[in-house]
Amino acid sequence: MSLAEIKSRIETAEAAAGRAPGSVKLIAVSKVQPNDRVQAVLEEGHRCFGENRVQEAAGKWPDFSKTFENLDLHLIGPLQTNKARQAMELFHAIHSVDRPKLAKTLARLAQEMGHCPDLFIQVNTGEEAQKAGILPKEADGFIAECRALDLPVKGLMCIPPVEEEASLHFALLAKLAKRNDLDSLSMGMSSDFEKAIALGATHVRVGSAIFGARVKPEE
Ligand SMILES: *Cc1c(COP(=O)(O)O)cnc(C)c1O
Repeated sequence: MSLAEIKSRIETAEAAAGRAPGSVKLIAVSKVQPNDRVQAVLEEGHRCFGENRVQEAAGKWPDFSKTFENLDLHLIGPLQTNKARQAMELFHAIHSVDRPKLAKTLARLAQEMGHCPDLFIQVNTGEEAQKAGILPKEADGFIAECRALDLPVKGLMCIPPVEEEASLHFALLAKLAKRNDLDSLSMGMSSDFEKAIALGATHVRVGSAIFGARVKPEE
């Protein structure tokens, strides 16, 4: 599927949900994609991309930024504290703030560096043992803790369990955001971004539907 098709499906979903045109940001997830595919999407004028590893992103985006201006890069994968500084230098938003130790590190670095990317708190809505994210019942407390650290928390992020109805998880994330006065929701991927838009997504993270299947394994 092409970038243009995905954009038009997003517009249709926005309209169907009675939402303003342009209220949903498309993050093109370029992890493990060959550079020529990423470059083709850049040449079509798209500037917002998502990566799930700091190392991989550091190996490709500084080069692209020499040719393409106004990049808007989002970290959507787990962040180790020892890579936090590099992530804050590289990314305009981090969607995977998921534990107090990381929040404290980001706060300390933000003080030191004088800037901080937009932050999303990742919620493990399916309470899956292998998945990152704060548990739903701990979300209110963690959001308050991040705010007390003066972190720029913009919204919440989730990755629903593969075998469950994604809409239930999107609705839970929207409820948690609303009761904490957060207006950004990072939810929805290639297979379910329209459902996510219906439930209030402001950022959808779409990879394979734009770039084709990922050719290299992720790990
Ligand atoms: C890989 C990834 C995506 C994109 O997945 P697709 O199914 O290819 O659209 C979205 N979000 C996160 C957190 C990812 O790691």
